[in-house]
Amino acid sequence: MRAQVETTLRGPESYSLARRVVDEMQAANVWPTPVNFELWLHYLGDPEGPLGREIQRLLAADEPFTDAMSDMLAAEYLPRGRLSEEIRDAGRVLDRELASVADAISKAHQSQSAYGDTLADASAGIERVENPDGLKTLVTTLTTATLKVQNENAALEKKLETSTREVAKLREHLEQVRRDAMTDALTNLANRKAFDEHLSAACEAEDADSKALTLAVIDIDHFKRFNDTWGHQTGDQVLRYVASVLARVARHPRMAARYGGEEFAMIFPSESAGTVEAALNAVRHEIASRALRRRSTNDELGAVTISAGFAQRKRGESASALLERADAALYVSKRNGRNQVTAADVLDKAA
Ligand code: C2E
Repeated sequence: MRAQVETTLRGPESYSLARRVVDEMQAANVWPTPVNFELWLHYLGDPEGPLGREIQRLLAADEPFTDAMSDMLAAEYLPRGRLSEEIRDAGRVLDRELASVADAISKAHQSQSAYGDTLADASAGIERVENPDGLKTLVTTLTTATLKVQNENAALEKKLETSTREVAKLREHLEQVRRDAMTDALTNLANRKAFDEHLSAACEAEDADSKALTLAVIDIDHFKRFNDTWGHQTGDQVLRYVASVLARVARHPRMAARYGGEEFAMIFPSESAGTVEAALNAVRHEIASRALRRRSTNDELGAVTISAGFAQRKRGESASALLERADAALYVSKRNGRNQVTAADVLDKAA
């Protein structure tokens, strides 16, 4: 479908699609920033695709299109496009470097074989040298040929050094691109894509070594109400604050991610249910006890609380089933009054 949008953008309907994008963004009160434009282009070009459906859901829920929201959607739904562009660019640089190294090697090869011919000629000619002048000419020819080969070797060496540096820069750049594609821009935590990959790798690792694996989902209580009262910029700061507390707790091998709007997730490999519960409760206490202030006015924002649910993976359980159980436990925390942590096995026993 992405390819279909790209094709439309280079065809007769491109301008009408672009105009429709601007009209629809205006109708929905969305700023025509480059990121929003790209998002809406893909949404209108493919309304039934995953991005299209998500934007329709947000519009139906009357969710505002803050910069943070746009960044998250872009990170979630557009990175592959960006990534492949960066990868294409990297491919072009590599092609160029390889072609120029191959060219330098072929030149060096030619001059080496020319030098070989010169030496063979000299060795045949030495028999025919009759006087010192003849010998002098022969030595001059050999010296010139040797110098030429030395210069060409030095040039090849330099070319190889430059190419090695270019390739190292490229590798660093690609590493950065890969990190960006896996990071949530607002909170700097891992994004959902990175989380999903990490979770399935953790499940595989658990299958191999059968150590415990626990998944927690964490949600900020009444976040929508908070956003409506204090505005989205302050809402974004709260997301950053909760993320900063989670990041401190999620030292390797634990892992924390922003999973959706105000939802976070954590993976705890090889830990007992008791330690996980204690860690989540420590996070919950820390967040609830901090008095946040609105930076622009210094207004006291009141307490922000979180609810959490966690589940320990059953043998062979799929990542989505594990997530579902952790979500169900989170739901119980919400239903029982929020600002609490619930273990899924409590529900399992009750059932
Ligand atoms: P930030 O504004 O970039 O702040 C990064 C870190 O700098 C904070 O990490 C904290 O260690 C320190 N810091 C910044 N401003 C102050 C300050 O006025 N007083 C003190 N004591 N330390 C300060 P921390 O606490 O983990 O917060 C992470 C992020 O959460 C902050 O990033 C900000 O975006 C948000 N945040 C935290 N507390 C508040 C708050 O009271 N009001 C607002 N609006 N945002 C907050």
